[in-house]
Amino acid sequence: MNIFEVSQPKVKIEGGEQRFPVRRIYCVGRNYAAHSREMGADPDREAPFFFLKATDTIVEDGARIAYPPRTNDLHHEVELVVAIGAAGRDVAIRDARSLILGYAVGIDFTRRDLQSEAKNLRRPWDTAKTFDGAAAISALRPSTGTVHPESGRIWLSVNDRLRQDGDLRQLIWSVPETIAELSTLFALAPGDLVYTGTPAGVAAVVPGDRISAAVEGIGELHVDIC
Ligand code: MN
Repeated sequence: MNIFEVSQPKVKIEGGEQRFPVRRIYCVGRNYAAHSREMGADPDREAPFFFLKATDTIVEDGARIAYPPRTNDLHHEVELVVAIGAAGRDVAIRDARSLILGYAVGIDFTRRDLQSEAKNLRRPWDTAKTFDGAAAISALRPSTGTVHPESGRIWLSVNDRLRQDGDLRQLIWSVPETIAELSTLFALAPGDLVYTGTPAGVAAVVPGDRISAAVEGIGELHVDIC
């Protein structure tokens, strides 16, 4: 590929031909109490914290993801993803939904061994969270009308065995609260994606694994590790 063939990552939008251009990928850390505990943290309602993934880590439904280098512990994290369609900064909680274009189901893949090392050494998480294929995402379901999920099953299975099984009601910080807080740190803009955190049950995958993930009322996502 030459440099003039480099293209912006885009995500399919259900029910249309246009694709959502990805500007930034924000992720929330420890937003479900049971997952916070399995990571050795205290799930008290500390302010949400954020990290980013590079936008070119996006892969869509049906992707075959190459097992990334320098890890022996690649973990899945199924998450509700919020797609931002309007600009905003210092957004009030009650206004946060006006920024939302739609929702998707995503997987925040994580090189857990590199993350543990980074935590121990007080180093950044980038190498744990950004690599080719690190951000899987389903088609976006537009939120026009009333599709703003506050509850609903969120689950992930590997080779048809259930690994993660939670409910959006378990989110420590709701979607509007998360957007409001994030918008105090960054000017949100159309094209931003927000991965809202994962329920308990994160675990390793290996080459050959078939992963299915879903959020009730939002969509399904299937990817393979090769
Ligand atoms: Mn995550």
